[in-house]
Amino acid sequence: MNADRVNDSVTGLILAGGQGRRMGNVDKGLELFRGKRLVDHVYERLAPQVGGIIINANQNHDAYKTFGVRVVSDAIGNFAGPLAGLHAGLSVSRRPYLASVPCDSPFLPEDLVERLLARLNESGAELAVAKTCDQPHPVFCLARRGVLEHLSNFLKGGGRKIDAWYASLAVAEVNFDDRAEAFSNINTREELANLEEETNEAGTTVETGTPAAPATAATAAAAVERLSQPSGDSPAGVIAGKALARTVSREALARTDLREALARVVSCIDDYDPNALRVDKAREVIRSFLAPVSTNEKLAVRAALGRVLGEDIISTLDVPAHDNSAMDGYALRHADLKTAGETELRLAGSAFAGRQFAGKLGKRECVRIMTGAVMPQGADTVVIQEIVQTEGDKVRIPAGQKRGQNRRIAGEDVAAGKPVLKAGQAVGPAELGLIASLGLAEVTVRRRLRVAFFSTGDELASVGSVLKPGEVYDSNRYTLYGMLSRLGCDVIDMGVVRDDPASLERALKATAADADAIITSGGVSVGEADFIRELLGKLGEVVFWKIAMKPGRPMAFGKIAHAGNEAHFFGLPGNPVAVMVTFYQFVREALLALSGRTDDCTLPLLQAPCTSSIKKSPGRTEFVRGLLARDERGQWSVAPTGAQGSGVLRSMAQANCFIVLEHERGPVNPGDLVQVQLFDGLV
Ligand code: AMP
Ligand code: MG
Repeated sequence: MNADRVNDSVTGLILAGGQGRRMGNVDKGLELFRGKRLVDHVYERLAPQVGGIIINANQNHDAYKTFGVRVVSDAIGNFAGPLAGLHAGLSVSRRPYLASVPCDSPFLPEDLVERLLARLNESGAELAVAKTCDQPHPVFCLARRGVLEHLSNFLKGGGRKIDAWYASLAVAEVNFDDRAEAFSNINTREELANLEEETNEAGTTVETGTPAAPATAATAAAAVERLSQPSGDSPAGVIAGKALARTVSREALARTDLREALARVVSCIDDYDPNALRVDKAREVIRSFLAPVSTNEKLAVRAALGRVLGEDIISTLDVPAHDNSAMDGYALRHADLKTAGETELRLAGSAFAGRQFAGKLGKRECVRIMTGAVMPQGADTVVIQEIVQTEGDKVRIPAGQKRGQNRRIAGEDVAAGKPVLKAGQAVGPAELGLIASLGLAEVTVRRRLRVAFFSTGDELASVGSVLKPGEVYDSNRYTLYGMLSRLGCDVIDMGVVRDDPASLERALKATAADADAIITSGGVSVGEADFIRELLGKLGEVVFWKIAMKPGRPMAFGKIAHAGNEAHFFGLPGNPVAVMVTFYQFVREALLALSGRTDDCTLPLLQAPCTSSIKKSPGRTEFVRGLLARDERGQWSVAPTGAQGSGVLRSMAQANCFIVLEHERGPVNPGDLVQVQLFDGLV
């Protein structure tokens, strides 16, 4: 199984067909960088994201064939540039989409294809292109295979400039400001040498895909420092500057003494035990301290899928606009029918969808009518064709027809002037259709929530590096990335921050200045929490909780402020399963509310018999990873998935649900009914 492969419907195209002029006419893809050819770096990053790869090269085919993939030359000669390469790739690719990247971009984002594809489908455009700081990167693009014809014609007409071609297409731009440095490409020997040196300084490379990515505490701190500066030449500096400008005017500026308020709320809870806050109470407290985003933006209808409506949608028309038939049959006046026995009517004409019957129905007349056709004037009832007998223009209708049957009334779906959808509702497929049925091309939605996250811990190593004694790979940033992306948030991955007050302070300030919410993992358990507690106290109002739950006992919640912005803070435990459980049980709902959702986003609990016994004492809520499955008789039941330690992430990967054992509940015996929360919908 290849769980990492983002999309089998996409062919990856590595553009290596250039002349490498700025490097002294070398074949750039074959230049060595960090012990490998540039094309090797690019291949390694692109391959896990696509179903197959094609390389476009105009020389040294044998050297590129080492990957065992197809190598194609431009069909037009003279090194005609990236468009010629794209054309060559599209001509031989058989998958529905083609993603192109240049051979000199060794740090390209690991989620490039996924994000381009999502946007392409969301927008309905013909091509999606990555951009950072409002600058498109035209050779990092994803095209539908169907654009080949358009491109062929453009090239035939003498066009060679990629920008000019894009201008003639429906192009969707995808913002990668969070990965700006991943788009650096290497054009000169000098750039190659400089980047080579940076690795040596950093000691190791980190998987974030940025050339100067933080690998050590010092470089992490430097990266955070860069982000926290409001202006500068580096892309990251520019982004941070923009973010500051955007957030200074935010509604969240009114600062409350949150800690005091939180303490008040908590102490009002009747059965509050300072050592163990109940899960439902913690949820309640969080809910009462959220300041949802209120800024709106206008989007084309399709692009609004998954977003939250920013305004009520009031219908300007009746849907359907006219009374019409719900079936294929005969439209008639019910008053003409005999109460007993058959009635013979005269066929006066026909009505089709889009072509109505012009006249008015006379006495004892009927009209042949198709589904969706406007009801003829005078007709009030439709009789389905299957029960009718016809002979020439005579139509015999059996007895027993009800007045008004098989007729849809104008406005029965939506009535003009009435709200059809409310601000705060999520836009799903049905809402898209409903909005389209009103003829609206654009829709107002809340802006996306910006969520920054980082892992804390001196023991954390990044994927791709070799583990030193005592180190563990940082997996929490990956689960958090997955969960936040599925929720539709704009994610800002801040990497790993070491357990040291200065680094943490810098990271928290940088994120508080920019994000709506900050999520950290690790560092909130007893013993570790002291300096973080002090730090969070200095930067904002945060309470530390021990929650009566398993897994995921320690958690911090509050708000922190910096540079005129205030961000909600969720300090999650470090253990990988505890991170996921606390996210799903507390953060998910909070982020949905912060995104502007006003409906109840809690997920339903189903009941199912449990096939094995589970130890449990009253006094805390437990979230056991379970597998809900059907037995041979088609009966659904649930069983825990193996080892339940809070560090055992495999128990999450094997599960399809949580078995939720309520606070008061005691042990579970085989056959007992338990509550089940499905991952579908959660994740
Ligand atoms: P902490 O809450 O920081 O004491 O961490 C609890 C446990 O979770 C320790 O065993 C950590 O090594 C582990 N842990 C913390 N952060 C991560 C992470 N990002 N990825 C994987 N394991 C982690
Ligand atoms: Mg730790």
